[in-house]
Amino acid sequence: MPRFVTHLESALDGTRLTADRPQTMHRDRPLWVRYGLDAVRGAMSKESVAVRPPTMWRYRELLPLDFDLQPVTLGEGMSPVLKCERLGAELGLSNLWIKDESQLPTGSFKSRGLGMAISMARQFGIRRVALPTAGNAGGAAAAYAARAGIEAYVFMPDDTPIINQLECRAAGARTFLVNGLITDCGRIVREGKEAMGWFDLSTLKEPYRIEGKKTMGLELAEQLGWRLPDVILYPTGGGTGLIGMWKAFDELAKIGWLAEDKRPRMVAVQSEGCCPIVRAFEKGERFAEPFPGAATIASGIRVPAAVGDFMILDAVRESGGRAIAVDENRIRDWLQLAFSREGIAVCPEAAACVGALEDLTGEGWIKPDEQVVLFNTGAAQKYPEALEGDLPRIDKDAAIDWDGLAAAPFDSA
Ligand SMILES: *Cc1c(COP(=O)(O)O)cnc(C)c1O
Repeated sequence: MPRFVTHLESALDGTRLTADRPQTMHRDRPLWVRYGLDAVRGAMSKESVAVRPPTMWRYRELLPLDFDLQPVTLGEGMSPVLKCERLGAELGLSNLWIKDESQLPTGSFKSRGLGMAISMARQFGIRRVALPTAGNAGGAAAAYAARAGIEAYVFMPDDTPIINQLECRAAGARTFLVNGLITDCGRIVREGKEAMGWFDLSTLKEPYRIEGKKTMGLELAEQLGWRLPDVILYPTGGGTGLIGMWKAFDELAKIGWLAEDKRPRMVAVQSEGCCPIVRAFEKGERFAEPFPGAATIASGIRVPAAVGDFMILDAVRESGGRAIAVDENRIRDWLQLAFSREGIAVCPEAAACVGALEDLTGEGWIKPDEQVVLFNTGAAQKYPEALEGDLPRIDKDAAIDWDGLAAAPFDSA
C-alpha cells in the first residue's frame, strides 16, 4: 500500500475527486485530503511514532506522500513548546505556552506547508510552480523548490518585508514585485497558468499545504502527551494553519489517540488593519467580504480575501472559539514585550496574538489557569521593518559615563 489517502473531497459540497493526479480546486473552493483512518489506526502506534526522527515526517501514515518516495526536506518540524512564566505573569496567566515555529527552516512555519506541497509536486512530476505570497510562503517555496530542482516563480507586493524579497531571489526563485496586494499577485499566477505552464501553489488552491500545516496540530498533541490545550491563538491570514490543526485534532480523535475528548477553543487573530475573517465572524456569516485597503506590519496576515474563509470560520465556531482583531498601532509594543520577557523572537503576527491575549484575559473569556498555546509562526529577525529603533551610541575615544550606561534610554514595552 503506497499510502493511506483514499480520495480528495470538496470542502464546499463533499464531491469526491481522485488523489491520483494533481488537483487544484472544485468550484473555486478548496479540497480536503481524506485518509482511510481505520487502516491508519491499524498501521501506526504512538510507540512507533515516538522513536522516529523528530521531523514532521514522523506522522507519515497521516500524510499524503507515497511511502516509496523521499520527501523534499530541510529537517522541518518538532518545534519546541516553551512555557512562558514571565510573559504569563504579565498577562495574568499561569499556564501560557508558545509553540516556537520561528525555529523551522526558512524562519517560519511556512516550511511545513511548502515542504509538503513541493514534495507532492515532485511526486506528480511537476517541473514549474508559481505562487503569490505575503512574504514567508515565497521564501519557503523558493527554498524547497531549489532543493527539489523545481523551477519557482514568486509574486509579492512591492512592500513585502525586504528579507522575504531577498531570500526568494537568493534561493533562485524568479521573484517579482507587484504594485498591489497578495490578491493581485494571485490573479497574475492564475492568468499566467496557460502561457507559463506552471502549477498554482497558492494557499489552499492545492490540497497539500494544509496537510503540511496539519503537522503543527499532530506535533502539539504529541508534545502535550496526547492532550490538547484549552485555547489556541493563531495569527490568521489564509488560515491554512488553523484549518490544518483543526483537521489534525479530528483525525487524532478518529484514530483514538486523544487521551480525553476536549478540543481547544481556536482563536483566529487578525489586525484591525486587515480583518475580513473577524468581520464575518461578528456578522455571523460563513463567507467573508474582501477587506478594503488592507494594511498591517504583520505582513503574513495581510490577506484581504481568503479562499478558505468558510473553513476558518467553521473551525472557529465549531471549537467554541473567537475571531478577534487587535490594534495595529500596538503590534510593535507586543513584539517587544514578548521578546524581552521570554527571549523568543516573536514575529509581528504572533505579537498580534499577545494583544488578543490581553483582551481575552481582560474580559475573562480566558481564565487565569487555563492552558493557552500561542503560535509564534515566524522569526522576528525576518522583519527588520518591525524591529526598527535607535540604539544609544558610544564614542570609542571618549571617557565612558558608567552611570549613564545603566540609565540609557531603551524602547521597552
Ligand atoms: C503566512 C503567515 C501567517 C498566516 O498563516 P495562514 O495559515 O496562512 O493563516 C501567520 N504568520 C506568519 C509569520 C506567516 O508567514
